[in-house]
Amino acid sequence: MDVLGGAAATRRAEAGSATDHKLKGVRVTATVANMTDIAARAEGVWKVYGSGEAQVQALRNVSVELRRGEFTAIMGPSGSGKSTLMHCLAGLDTVSTGEVYIGETALKGLSDAKLTKLRRDQVGFIFQQFNLLPTLTAKENILLPLAIAGRKPDPGWFDTVIKTVDLADRLSHRPTQLSGGQQQRVACARALVSRPDVVFADEPTGNLDSRSGAEILGFLRQSVQLHGQTIVMVTHDPNAASYADRVIFLADGVIVGELRNPTADAVLDTMKRLDRVVAETPVSDH
Ligand code: ADP
Repeated sequence: MDVLGGAAATRRAEAGSATDHKLKGVRVTATVANMTDIAARAEGVWKVYGSGEAQVQALRNVSVELRRGEFTAIMGPSGSGKSTLMHCLAGLDTVSTGEVYIGETALKGLSDAKLTKLRRDQVGFIFQQFNLLPTLTAKENILLPLAIAGRKPDPGWFDTVIKTVDLADRLSHRPTQLSGGQQQRVACARALVSRPDVVFADEPTGNLDSRSGAEILGFLRQSVQLHGQTIVMVTHDPNAASYADRVIFLADGVIVGELRNPTADAVLDTMKRLDRVVAETPVSDH
């Protein structure tokens, strides 16, 4: 089944130069881009949890650039470090070594207040569980991050976002009066309305039926294509990943591969190969 619809056909031509090489049988594409094109990046990031016998190296020397106006999916077997990478890139978690930048701002050394402001002003979040406030209407939920920041929405942009996620007739409803798909559409609008540098989505379709999931992925795709939004999505679903421009594959805390303009079949095939590589690697190497 072609899950891409018309999306693949209209994808932008890739900017920058690319070099290919092979690692553990998975094709890796390293890209070089102008720094001003980069919405967020990780440089030599290690994330270590615990110490001694209980130590876990969740990320091992990960470097990645997220280009503006691009939709990136992060995939990998369970425990490979997807959530850790996303949380570090989003400034929700600190790194052990290395550096994360959002725009040109290095996160290390920022005070809590500055980090909170940067996350509020420059980052949008979409979670698997929607995370809407039950006592607020859809509209109030969408505008909450801006209200907290003391900012007013750009009326034209607010209307565009509402139209994009098709919520015009649901704005006065509370989350309990909305379906799961509609609640996630509210969460998407909330993430997009402040025009953040980058939106991080953590399994955004994990709690939805396939039709609602496809709608959400379509909105995310549209916000990238029509409005130049940068999106990073963690997913374990090859179909969801096929909506992205680029899929990054993690295994054991290392980026081991990348696909551009992926199809669901190509993603599935890569995941199967990765699962085999992980299974064949001696436990002492994990
Ligand atoms: P994924 O999202 O790919 O399933 P995670 O990023 O959640 O993987 O986890 C990567 C590794 O780090 C796993 O081995 C996990 O057990 C470990 N890990 C994640 N969070 C913590 C934590 N707070 N304390 C200790 N270990 C953790």
